[in-house]
Amino acid sequence: MQTVLLPLPETSSVLHARLKAIAVVGTAVLLASLFGILTRPVGFLAAFWPANAILLGLMVRNTSYASLPTWLSAFFAYLVADLATGSELAITLWLTSANMVGVITGYLLFGLLGDDDRALRRPLSVLYLFAISAAAALAAALTGGGAATVLFGRDFISGLEFWFVTELVNSLVILPVILAFPGFRQFGLSDRRVRRLRRDELRQMLPAALLLCSAAATVVVGGPGAIAFPVPALVWCALSYTVFTTSALTLMLCGWMLVAVSTGLLAGSNSPDALGSASSVRLGIALIALGPLSVASINAAREELLRKLTHSANHDMLTGTLSRRAFMDHGYEIVRKQASRGAPTSLLMLDVDHFKSVNDHHGHAAGDRVLTEFARLVSLTVRKNDLFGRIGGEEFAVLLPGTGLDEAIAIAERIRGVVENSEIAISEDDAICISVSIGVAVTDGAADACLDGLLAASDTALYRAKSKGRNVVHVA
Ligand code: GH3
Ligand code: MG
Ligand code: MG
Repeated sequence: MQTVLLPLPETSSVLHARLKAIAVVGTAVLLASLFGILTRPVGFLAAFWPANAILLGLMVRNTSYASLPTWLSAFFAYLVADLATGSELAITLWLTSANMVGVITGYLLFGLLGDDDRALRRPLSVLYLFAISAAAALAAALTGGGAATVLFGRDFISGLEFWFVTELVNSLVILPVILAFPGFRQFGLSDRRVRRLRRDELRQMLPAALLLCSAAATVVVGGPGAIAFPVPALVWCALSYTVFTTSALTLMLCGWMLVAVSTGLLAGSNSPDALGSASSVRLGIALIALGPLSVASINAAREELLRKLTHSANHDMLTGTLSRRAFMDHGYEIVRKQASRGAPTSLLMLDVDHFKSVNDHHGHAAGDRVLTEFARLVSLTVRKNDLFGRIGGEEFAVLLPGTGLDEAIAIAERIRGVVENSEIAISEDDAICISVSIGVAVTDGAADACLDGLLAASDTALYRAKSKGRNVVHVA
């Protein structure tokens, strides 16, 4: 008897993801191609051809898209758009192949970069983007540049140059927007963020407003230097907004200037060598935009670094709670603020009982796990506005702003109970129970109350709790 090995059926979610990729890519390429075809000047290749940059951006953003069926769906989308608008099959195949060669070249080159560079988050990212865009544009131009000769009788070099410049300009202005797009979820602003935006609205809008003014100045003032007018505003935008917002603004600005060039509003198109001159201006526009984009990338990298540094300076490495210094800094402020409005502040001083014996019996690594889990339990038990820090060793403190004695005791008891009733895993198959002693102190609401007084009082109370037998809450 013959047995036939059937391939396992793909799970429906995998199939769904593949179909989605095919549909998204096919639709995007079809619509973008139609847009390019419908806006192209009569008798020549399209000057604004967003399809290739969009396809490349989609593939780079979602590497899971890059399968044969998805590439084929892109290929057919190009064909359909061209054939539906009355192009000849042979020419369409030629142009489409050139488009695909460019995009695939870009895709392969982007594969050499890491995730951070692909999302334009590193200082050199924009230069890589430029190099890859240029290589992809060259590959496409070499494949398709001859079409201009066949179709419109232009010489090969000018066809090549036109294709290269168009492709490069499109990539440089469209790709950054797709690569830096933060995802749709980022746009679901919470009420709080919207309110904050509203308060700072004016200041936030200034760089964009200046950009708008300088875009207007390019045509109002005019002259050969006009394309550089928006640079200061773009740099300000780059320093004020995210890479995505900056690249979106850059796209709009470049779009505007490209239109201005092709309609003669901006210098470049009415010189004797119209085609070469317009190409040169368009390339200049896209290249000028690279500077501010680099600034945005560098700024994003710098802010991320600062965020990480600030976080590690303010947090304890083992438990993730506030470091002693950060706890003190914030704590001083909180106590002073509450005291100035006559409100109380309470402090809980927590010390794990007999912690040394955990280390002695189970090892230092187990002790570390206990501390981490203890900190997790406490942070789940305190409220959002309470301040929780590691003061040293197995000693922690919780500052309770605006909280009087009764409530503070209740919270301390809750923590004590949670810790007492939790089993803490110290290895795959071993768990132990621990307890915590807590000293409670509260400011009397006097205007001169300070953190030092609270710390000293809660420390004394903790000492009493220990001498009472541990696993207790004691009030100063
Ligand atoms: P008590 O109930 O009186 O608080 O007794 P104790 O054993 O908890 O207190 P003691 O001060 O005698 O011991 C604290 C121990 O905590 C000693 C120290 O080695 C250990 N320790 C401090 N920091 C760390 C840490 O980061 N990891 C681990 N594993 N142990 C630590
Ligand atoms: Mg202890
Ligand atoms: Mg101790």
